[in-house]
Amino acid sequence: GAERTKNVLILMSDTGGGHRASAEAIKDAFRLEYGDQYKVFIKDVWKEYTGWPLNDMERQYKFMVKHVQLWSLAFHSTSPKWIHSVYLAAIAAFYAKEVEAGLMEYKPDIIISVHPLMQHIPLWVLKWQKLHKKVVFATVITDLNTCHRTWFHPSVNRLYCPSEEVAKRALLDGLQESQICVFGLPIRPSFVQAVFSKDDLRIELEMDLQLPAVLLMGGGEGMGPVKETAKALSEALFDTELERPIGQLIIICGRNETLASTLQSLQWKIPIRGFEKQMQKWMGACDCIITKAGPGTIAEALIRGLPIILNDYIPGQEKGNVPYVVESGAGVFTRNAKETARIVAEWFGEKKEELHRMSGNALKLAQPNAVFDIVRDVHELAWQRGAQASAPYVLTPSLSSLIC
Ligand code: UDP
Repeated sequence: GAERTKNVLILMSDTGGGHRASAEAIKDAFRLEYGDQYKVFIKDVWKEYTGWPLNDMERQYKFMVKHVQLWSLAFHSTSPKWIHSVYLAAIAAFYAKEVEAGLMEYKPDIIISVHPLMQHIPLWVLKWQKLHKKVVFATVITDLNTCHRTWFHPSVNRLYCPSEEVAKRALLDGLQESQICVFGLPIRPSFVQAVFSKDDLRIELEMDLQLPAVLLMGGGEGMGPVKETAKALSEALFDTELERPIGQLIIICGRNETLASTLQSLQWKIPIRGFEKQMQKWMGACDCIITKAGPGTIAEALIRGLPIILNDYIPGQEKGNVPYVVESGAGVFTRNAKETARIVAEWFGEKKEELHRMSGNALKLAQPNAVFDIVRDVHELAWQRGAQASAPYVLTPSLSSLIC
């Protein structure tokens, strides 16, 4: 029909690799499902339009997760609603004008937040602008289990939860059942589509065709005990009696350049990679994965049917990912590098059955279509608003004068 293109604004922040990956997944799915009907913008509104402390979140987050105690304190001490509400209200008042300009520049018909701190202020702006009846606002939670309470805002039109556990928490925090959908974590469509054979991928990636392969990583930032684990694996995966390897190791360091160069200087014959754009290929070429408990990496590994060894987690939001994986039989948890290496060696040797069984459990837990379910539902919501949405975009100039 003669429908005009609708604008979708996805709000995210580069705190970890997961939020951007989810944002890009949603953007790709919109394009695949609806082509030109939607124009999708991914924005870090804080970074681009505000000052300290919001524009500095990426650096603060990195600093804090490196000093986990500090992050743990920040996560738990801001959990009571009155604390983060007061804090966010103060910041909102301070930066209202800039954020408003930032949001309205894109004339969004739909706003999707994939970050726990991007509900309150944008929703206030919509309300002030009397746009909350026109613009669809949805939140996509990107933590699998123990997420922070700032994710839950009662004024959203839709809250997409990756698991029933998260949905339960949302209900306890005052959201209505009609606001909540449980589809799974949005994963880039490239993970779901175009599944290549393992052999083809190994040829393309220059890997050994026969040896079972383990992928070692630590999220977008290359966190966790990667170096120790690599060392332990290089011993455990070599049969000293027969003088031959029983497996191969791939290490992906993400944005952690220090880690990549340290590992490279060890002069072994293991492929070591920095930030990889095509994670679906590496995962498709391997037989199991070792990682910290990042939700994105876990959800991707499940789609590829990779048994998971979780060797670390960020306190707070990632803690619950451990039982999520372990209790469903899709993986194990250990922080001990030697133990990790022993488990992999067993999986590649006498415990092949266990590896196989866990792979099956991983596939059962996978939700490869979540991202498509989400965009279809958003489309539906936007369509229901059709009448209001076709009205011209009118902005009230009075907001800043109201605040200042
Ligand atoms: N990732 C990537 N290339 C890399 C390392 C990681 O694309 O070299 C992606 C990975 O596939 C996942 C995301 O970055 O989608 C990491 O998200 P996760 O939630 O696991 O952890 P975070 O980095 O957010 O702490």
